[in-house]
Amino acid sequence: MTDKYNDEITGNEIEDQDDDKDEPEKFCMLCGRPEKQAGKMIDLPNNIHICRDCMQKSFDSMNQQMNNANFNYNDLLNMPNVSMIDLTNFQNPVNHPQKAKHKKKDKKAEPVLDLKKIPAPHKIKATLDEYVIGQEHAKKVMAVAVYNHYKRVATDTMDEIDIEKSNMLMIGPTGSGKTYLVKTLAKLLDVPLAIADATSLTEAGYIGDDIESVVSKLLAAADNDVEKAEHGIIFIDEIDKIAKKKNTNQRDVSGEAVQQGMLKLLEGSEVEVPVGANSKNAMVPLTTVNTRNILFICGGAFPDLENIIKERLNKQASIGFYADLKDKYDDDPHLLEKVTVDDLRNFGMIPEFLGRLPVIFTLNGLTEDMLVQILREPRNAILKQYQKLLALDEVKLEFEEDALRAIAAKAMERKTGARALRAILEEYMLDIMYEIPKDDSIGEVIITRGYIEGNGAPKILLRGQEVPLLGTAGNN
Ligand code: ADP
Repeated sequence: MTDKYNDEITGNEIEDQDDDKDEPEKFCMLCGRPEKQAGKMIDLPNNIHICRDCMQKSFDSMNQQMNNANFNYNDLLNMPNVSMIDLTNFQNPVNHPQKAKHKKKDKKAEPVLDLKKIPAPHKIKATLDEYVIGQEHAKKVMAVAVYNHYKRVATDTMDEIDIEKSNMLMIGPTGSGKTYLVKTLAKLLDVPLAIADATSLTEAGYIGDDIESVVSKLLAAADNDVEKAEHGIIFIDEIDKIAKKKNTNQRDVSGEAVQQGMLKLLEGSEVEVPVGANSKNAMVPLTTVNTRNILFICGGAFPDLENIIKERLNKQASIGFYADLKDKYDDDPHLLEKVTVDDLRNFGMIPEFLGRLPVIFTLNGLTEDMLVQILREPRNAILKQYQKLLALDEVKLEFEEDALRAIAAKAMERKTGARALRAILEEYMLDIMYEIPKDDSIGEVIITRGYIEGNGAPKILLRGQEVPLLGTAGNN
């Protein structure tokens, strides 16, 4: 090749080179043709040049090898000093991991949050009243906290006094309306809501969802609109399940470590989250979400917390001259309301975590009366839903007062709060919903106590008839 080079560098070629500002002619390293003949060369390091024809041939032969059934692409990748360039990366930059652009702010003339449009606390509570029965204290606390939070978000700062974030911790038995309150609140404020379960969270790197996944859920709920997500609400349920594990020597990856991991999120930090997926991987674009203005609400049933409160109160009461009876708090229905941050620390929540949830309040366990109210009063009460369904078949559905009491009593036995109501009602309504559409002459169905208690039947009235058609046993 050197001979060839020397041969060809003589004569006319040299003169041409002179014209070209003294640059030596380039020759293809593979076929040896000069640039003049082979066309523009591709320059590689160390003065190596390759003509386009030879470059194309090498790509073609490589592709052929890859299509060969015996070819193992990984072998090629594992060869020392071989690095592959994926040309599709250049052709289709969308597939390449990259930062998703924030949606252009000037697209929307209206700000996401308008201070004037945030409903006043009494209005927030009034709307909550339409859906949620009882829990007066919880509704009031939430209304004020949410109002303050969004006022803080909308103004950013007030006279240089930084208003603290109103993250909340709600403590209440299962089925008492914690999730329902948050859902109603998000709907009424028209902000995106993500609901996560603390039990599924683990410290980054361990099996389970890492903590930042809650922010990607919120982003998904906001249709990947970062600005909208940054004003949203994240509800983390079952927060009591990440209490510090007692008497363990192992690393507490799903307890204390999760609380630690959540500190930054609660306070406000920039989190890189994948857009349109739950986990980060090479093919998903990432975006940055700031959690500073995201409202975090944590909820949990905190079983055994009552015992911790009782123990503390008993200890306090037994000191001093007027020592109380030891069982004074045993049947106190308002025991949970007496909770303090110290009790929660004893339960296993770390002080730094509690410090970032300044609004702590409790919900009451539901009574039988409240369950009856829940059945028929809220805007979308279960009874109203069934009544509407049957009304579409032009059949009237009524429940006797006693029947409602019987349903509530059955729900109380299940100890899952209002959650049991729907399950119980569905059991009884199945036959009704199956049988009624069969007979066009039926105009009204009355659910009786006997039917619920299993010793009677519902009253069925024909159209235009006031007299019950079927048995009414057990109803009186
Ligand atoms: P939890 O406290 O365990 O989060 P949920 O909020 O999920 O309980 O309650 C389950 C269902 O029970 C809700 O979807 C709602 O229909 C009903 N419910 C619970 N509490 C109330 C309440 N106080 N008022 C009206 N409905 C309620």
